[in-house]
Amino acid sequence: MLKDEIEKLIRLQEIDSEIFTYKKVIEEFPSQKAMMEKSVEDTSREISLIKKEQKKIQVEKKERELELVSIEDEIKKLQKRLDEVKTNKEYTSLLSEIDNLKKKKEDTEEIVLLLMEQEDQINKRMSDLSKRSDEIKKEVEFKITEKTSKVEELKKVLEEKNAERVKIVSEIRKDVYEVYEKIRAGKKDGIAVCKLEGQSCTGCSMFVPVYLTEKVKAKKDLVKCENCSRILY
Ligand SMILES: [Zn+2]
Repeated sequence: MLKDEIEKLIRLQEIDSEIFTYKKVIEEFPSQKAMMEKSVEDTSREISLIKKEQKKIQVEKKERELELVSIEDEIKKLQKRLDEVKTNKEYTSLLSEIDNLKKKKEDTEEIVLLLMEQEDQINKRMSDLSKRSDEIKKEVEFKITEKTSKVEELKKVLEEKNAERVKIVSEIRKDVYEVYEKIRAGKKDGIAVCKLEGQSCTGCSMFVPVYLTEKVKAKKDLVKCENCSRILY
């Protein structure tokens, strides 16, 4: 009787929908895992970039500090020479040289201050990011472990569902099954059989005319929705 075939199709659809959902979760996992691993790698890369920047600032600061010491030495040397000069011209030129060096000293001091500020900022960024990186790493490890075992579990369930499917398919009339499979192959959501609710198809939400709803209730033929072609029950 076709009524029995419809009952079996409904059961098959339930199994197929479960298989559809599990397969999706299993198939999507590798790319999700890769994305999570990438977020860890991205953070590590950011950390190594900041480390490089940190090093650069430290080196430059050191250089400027050394420069400052040598300028100060030079100023002291020139100031001593002031006592030894003989001519006014020499004296004036020495003074202007000292002035220039003082100006250079001020500029360098400013640069050192700026570099110190930059160093503070980058150290702060580094400590924040290290903390966040540890958190991300832990979170990603946890999620991957959790999801891996969930996926393994689903793979087992999927095997059971596939076996269940083979059994029920063997019990369905071949022509009925072929109609079902043809419809299912054309649907993105993998749904070929759906319930009629009042006057509408739950597959596409469209109105189903009375003459069809009557046929659905009679359960003597496979009735398809005129809009989405799914089998109605
Ligand atoms: Zn429909």
